[in-house]
Amino acid sequence: MDKKVMDILLAGFNGTITEADRRYYIDNCMGAEEKEIGKPYFEMDAAEALKFGVLSHNNTKGGLTGYDCQRCKNRGEFMIIKNGKAYFRDCECMKIRRSLANMERSGLGNLLELYTFDRYKCVHPWQTKAFNTAKAFVVDNNAHLLFICGQSGAGKSHLCTAVASKFLKRGMDVIFMPWTDASMKIKQAMRSEGEYEQLIDKLKFAQVLYIDDFFKGDNAARPTSADIRLANEIINYRYNKSRIDKTKRYITIISTERTLEQLQQYDSALAGRIIELTRPNYLVGLFGEEKNYRLHGGGQ
Ligand SMILES: [Zn+2]
Repeated sequence: MDKKVMDILLAGFNGTITEADRRYYIDNCMGAEEKEIGKPYFEMDAAEALKFGVLSHNNTKGGLTGYDCQRCKNRGEFMIIKNGKAYFRDCECMKIRRSLANMERSGLGNLLELYTFDRYKCVHPWQTKAFNTAKAFVVDNNAHLLFICGQSGAGKSHLCTAVASKFLKRGMDVIFMPWTDASMKIKQAMRSEGEYEQLIDKLKFAQVLYIDDFFKGDNAARPTSADIRLANEIINYRYNKSRIDKTKRYITIISTERTLEQLQQYDSALAGRIIELTRPNYLVGLFGEEKNYRLHGGGQ
């Protein structure tokens, strides 16, 4: 700021400003905020000065990256005045930013673009039914668990990913658990308690947990007792929580090649909880030769 303007400002604050200097300042020196309020800063009353501060803040550029928001200029917040006081508010873009970060953290990567509802082709009636069930699950605020079982290539992962994606877009935290890899890692971590707790807590507490290829393995082989214990620990926790704490939702999405009958043989209590959580009707079975989606070039 040059000396002349500085002197005019000081004179303005001291009340010794000449009319010529005042006119000069108004014509040449007012910033965007002063123009919006319609007077130089040194003539503002307390309420106008507060508005000036809020406008100045809201015009400042922020440093957030990943999404360009015109509204908050990438600060993620803006100030408002309510009853003569200034308050900070989160910008709407924070939801989008969280959702983008969650997408990255979810581990689903480019599957999210590939496996959308729009790209799911309903060729057979059973596909339409599965598709409608998955869509209904997304908008049902009381739904707990979507269970899609079916043979390889039936389109299970496609629908489950499309559902997970919808929750991510709402800014919810989705944890992706590819069963085989994740369970292996957790079982290995059992030897060190801290690490084990950390891994399993993430799954137990997840707002949305997507377990892909649950109990995957040689079809004839039962899951190991360690696998069954792990499944129980996660499902039981989420089952109990969803019954006790109605204020917080624990949404679970499961895709598996195992049938419900198989699950019942492995552990009837676990199967019972899963069935209960899928109420009213979020249990989808895709079995039978004609349901091998890939064989029909269904676009998975
Ligand atoms: Zn914003």
